[in-house]
Amino acid sequence: MDNKNNQWRKDFPILDQVVNDEQLVYLDNAATTQKPQQIIDDIMAFYQNDNANVHRGVHTLAERSTEQFEEARSKIQQFINAKHSDEIIYTKGTTDSLNIIARSYGEQNIQAGDEIVISYLEHHSNLIPWQQLALKKHATLKYIDLDEDGFVDLNDAKKKITDKTKIVSIAHVSNVLGVINPIKQLAKLAHQHGAVMVVDGAQSVPYMPVDVQDLDCDFLAFSGHKMLGPTGLGILYGKEDLLNSMPPVDYGGEMISFVHLFDTTWNDLPWKFEAGTPNIAGAIALGHAVDYLNSIGMDKILDYENQLVDYVLPKLQAIDDLIIYGPRDPQKHTSVISFNLKGLHPHDLATGLDMEGVAVRAGHHCAQPLMEYLGIKATARASFYFYNTKEDADTLVNSIVATKEFFQNGTI
Ligand code: PLP
Repeated sequence: MDNKNNQWRKDFPILDQVVNDEQLVYLDNAATTQKPQQIIDDIMAFYQNDNANVHRGVHTLAERSTEQFEEARSKIQQFINAKHSDEIIYTKGTTDSLNIIARSYGEQNIQAGDEIVISYLEHHSNLIPWQQLALKKHATLKYIDLDEDGFVDLNDAKKKITDKTKIVSIAHVSNVLGVINPIKQLAKLAHQHGAVMVVDGAQSVPYMPVDVQDLDCDFLAFSGHKMLGPTGLGILYGKEDLLNSMPPVDYGGEMISFVHLFDTTWNDLPWKFEAGTPNIAGAIALGHAVDYLNSIGMDKILDYENQLVDYVLPKLQAIDDLIIYGPRDPQKHTSVISFNLKGLHPHDLATGLDMEGVAVRAGHHCAQPLMEYLGIKATARASFYFYNTKEDADTLVNSIVATKEFFQNGTI
């Protein structure tokens, strides 16, 4: 698993560069992944050959772009095993998808005294929409505890989810602790109490096979840019009957059936939720990203990343003064790994790593309540994807040691 033997790496031209006189090692994939040359070419080819607005024209280019746009929707439907393609709504990203659920389903169904249940590890995108909805509706927002490894604790979930609960919304994979949460069991629990299950799939859909029918979740939100696609395009999956019962949140072109002077009827799914000209090239590119991921196989991607974690986690654990968050057991840890070096601010650590060519993230990772729960302000975070290698892992480990020595002794 060195760079030369990774068959996918050559597709990512951005990786082949020197930063700060060192070969770039990109380990910020949980923030956004890099894009293969094929997808960069596809986006350019769309604008060179097929660009036209979707759904509105009868001319050839409009038909071509509409066909590709809707074909991408079907690919995404199959990728997450949704029953119908009209259950796939194009949005701007995970954040947008979660806000739409809160503003549409939430506004319609939450009354004073109802409960919304989330957990302490949620990204702000899966926290603030529910917090603000609860404030507005005089509902109660409850937080499920984490167990000692950082997983959402099922025993506590059984206490927190009650007959008053209307919405449970949980991250499938934590963007800080690298845990895969027990979504299937949580969905079962939510349904036993008549609540809907919302899943923040921002970190899971790019990383592992995700089957919405198997999970039996009611909604799933994810972002194209974290799975090889461009920024500004995400997906909201919802069960058809729920989406049909929900009001649109944005008004304008595309989402209407008929507009009269004083009233309007809505378009069918999925367009009811897609007001205005969408990110056409982005959606088509996400369809191609799905093709690319399928050509490898999501099982294989998961397996490959598990091997990387098996390799790197013990090496990180062996570094003195390095505190690693999430499970100690590599079998329980995804390839999102957060850590702190004792006595050093994570920003200094990340800057030290950047001097070695290693790109990691540092900060609160849009999870301030989780930082508070852990009793810290911030962490550094390395996150791997299938184009990373053991060589990258070694560089990370060596660079942490070098940075530690630099700050201790002033040499690097
Ligand atoms: N949820 C989780 C778990 C994330 O990791 C992220 C992004 O890092 C988001 C939501 C928000 O995604 P986006 O910024 O693409 O909307």
